[in-house]
Amino acid sequence: MSLTLDEARTRAGVLSSVSYFLDLDLTGLETFRSHARLRFRSSAPETFLELKGALSVSLLVNGEVVEAAYDGGRVSLAGLSTEAVNEVEVTATLPYTTDGDGMHTFTDPADGSRYVAAYLGMDNASKVFACFDQNDLKASFAVSVTADPAVTVLANGAVVSHEAGRWVFATTPPIPPALLVVAAGPWHSVRWTHAGLDFGWHARHSLAAELERDAAELRRTTEACFDHYADLIDEPYPFDSYDQVFVPGLNWGAQEMPGCVTYRDELLPRGAITDTQRAIRAVIIAHEMSHMWFGDSMTMTWWEDTWLQESFADYMGYRVAEAGAGFADLRVEVEVRSKPWGYRSDARRSTHPVAPLADDVPDVDTAATIFDGISYAKGGACLVQLAFWLGDEEFMAGVNRHLTRFRFGNATLADFVESLAASSSKDVRGWVDAWLRRPGFDTMSVRRDGDVPVLEREGSRPHAFTVAAYDSSLRLVGRKRVELGAEPVPLPEFAGLVVVPNAGGETFAALRLDAGSWAALSGGLSRLEDPLVRAVLWSSAARRVRSRELSADDFLDLVEAHLPEETRADIIEGVLSEARSVVIPQRVPASRAAGAVARVAAAAAAGLKASGDDEQRALAWAAALAATSADAGLLRGWLETDKVAVGVPLLPTTRWEAVVRLASLGEADARFIAAERDRDGTVEGDLGALRALAARPSTTAKDAAWEAMLAPGVDNRRFDALASGMWIAEQAHLLRPYVAAYLAEAPALATRGQAFALEVGRAFPRIALDSEQLDGLRAALADGVPTILRRSWEDHFDDRE
Ligand SMILES: [Zn+2]
Repeated sequence: MSLTLDEARTRAGVLSSVSYFLDLDLTGLETFRSHARLRFRSSAPETFLELKGALSVSLLVNGEVVEAAYDGGRVSLAGLSTEAVNEVEVTATLPYTTDGDGMHTFTDPADGSRYVAAYLGMDNASKVFACFDQNDLKASFAVSVTADPAVTVLANGAVVSHEAGRWVFATTPPIPPALLVVAAGPWHSVRWTHAGLDFGWHARHSLAAELERDAAELRRTTEACFDHYADLIDEPYPFDSYDQVFVPGLNWGAQEMPGCVTYRDELLPRGAITDTQRAIRAVIIAHEMSHMWFGDSMTMTWWEDTWLQESFADYMGYRVAEAGAGFADLRVEVEVRSKPWGYRSDARRSTHPVAPLADDVPDVDTAATIFDGISYAKGGACLVQLAFWLGDEEFMAGVNRHLTRFRFGNATLADFVESLAASSSKDVRGWVDAWLRRPGFDTMSVRRDGDVPVLEREGSRPHAFTVAAYDSSLRLVGRKRVELGAEPVPLPEFAGLVVVPNAGGETFAALRLDAGSWAALSGGLSRLEDPLVRAVLWSSAARRVRSRELSADDFLDLVEAHLPEETRADIIEGVLSEARSVVIPQRVPASRAAGAVARVAAAAAAGLKASGDDEQRALAWAAALAATSADAGLLRGWLETDKVAVGVPLLPTTRWEAVVRLASLGEADARFIAAERDRDGTVEGDLGALRALAARPSTTAKDAAWEAMLAPGVDNRRFDALASGMWIAEQAHLLRPYVAAYLAEAPALATRGQAFALEVGRAFPRIALDSEQLDGLRAALADGVPTILRRSWEDHFDDRE
């Protein structure tokens, strides 16, 4: 059972002045040894520590050996002093994990190197050491690690000493136990100092060439973001060093560990890195760096305030990567990729206010489900709106007041509102109530009074945004800032013109254009000069497919008519992702899936042709064509030449898309796939081959894939690769028994841990389901389904309703 809010409140009420001395021995191959010495004050004689899955435990309380009362998840403590400082020592032997929760191990098939890293967050700290695992029991950590003398160990604090495999790290300022990190392995490192601080980028040894390829840019982006935060935020950087590590098998995109950020190492791709990948990676770098203040120094008290960390990091990530590191037009990415996730999440039964009530997040398992499109995408969009509505100076004054008040402390929504209200003359409390305390989004519509456009709002929130106006040939004629509330706003200066509200993407609301404007815009979408307006309109079209105001065919018409002419690779990729992962599986019946995929392939072929010498566009289209084409000859030709066209390389990820596609068409057998895997020789090759084998259109192949997914201890990446290969849109008939098997077996799979439960939820059939199958899902939901999987299934159900 995960920690409950009540337990956390009780424990926070009695404990204080906690500190940890943590000594880890990672030299064992099967298990590791964890020695935690805690000092703390307690006003009660009894409490408990979390410690999950230990194989052996010994306990010392104030110097006395105590028979450990241990139930596999918690160690009971009794006889504590309520007067003096208590000292408790817990020595435990614990297993390594392969699912990205706890002390994760990975052996690199490229060179046999072994990596061991503690991936914590949520309540996983207790899989590594005995602790009071809650955000508001912050503590200093003095960490030492014994490891193979040949490897480098990274951790939160700077290295104090290391010799003969024994590493000692500087004691951290107060941080939550969940934010501890230790990463051991033969890392390839790039180190430097900047602004008096030690910085480093690290990656697996077999990714040394990729790290060197990108080192200059990674360093430049890091420094630029760091300097920008130094200008933006009053509080100085809170920690003593800044390492960033590309690690294997991480479940999150990245984790904001104080002084030592971890990134999934897919962010260091082989071959070339595309401009979109560079921009997204810069946003993640800026996002994680913002957490040093938003989350690591100022930390939420309990999980209902996840938004205080993630919404701010989402907002700051885009803002600082653009203004600080110089990645242009990142709002385009927000519109085509992030906000659709927010709208989709906000239309489900599981939606919640950006800032929910504490009681609505009663335990940590529930907390694991709110790292969702509301806490990130919608929350970030709300902060864009807040800064625009309030003015940036007042917004940042409030934010800074808050970060300074709660340096190395814990805070809640009420604290934030107080900080903001003290810095503004506007009705901040009213704004917070309307935007952060209520789920759902408003609709902004345009009607015509004669030929005068009139803006109207259905909903309850105040909005501030830009309206753009165009003539009949879609040339921009004017832009205007508008504030819209309960009263309609006529725009006589834009009479007779095509209008687009929210043209700068400043607010979070559905758009309903007048028929004339939509007819003009949908006829000339690719001609609009401003990529942000194009992105806003694509995003709006996708949302209307989800709300069934627009059919999947209408959307695919737009894709075929306009996307091949689109000049921005990020828009191409965002729209195609929406078409392939949302529109086709959720809005096209199985019998018509092949036709819909063929339409995407036709657009991709046209787009590739229209790309000319624009390599970024060509790479985006090639990836889509590799995943959708039915032309086996074309794909085989790409594999033979390792090129898509003259001057356009076949990137390793696209190469695997093509192999998987050939396999799904019955055009690649096991020998062919094995040859591709051997040619590749990396972990991506192993995973690509698993996915391709699973994609083959036969019962034998699907049986084997399904059995491999059920194998005990299957690692998180292999499970994901198998699921990706398993579900192919055009194979719905063949897949019927596996949909049923998934619904029957997934609840048992989802008991392995939070991250794996999320993975099991993501493995939900990515194909059209008929009403009988949806009834099966409804029936499965009526049985006992673990918290995290239940949330995922309800979301899948609602997306298809
Ligand atoms: Zn984050």
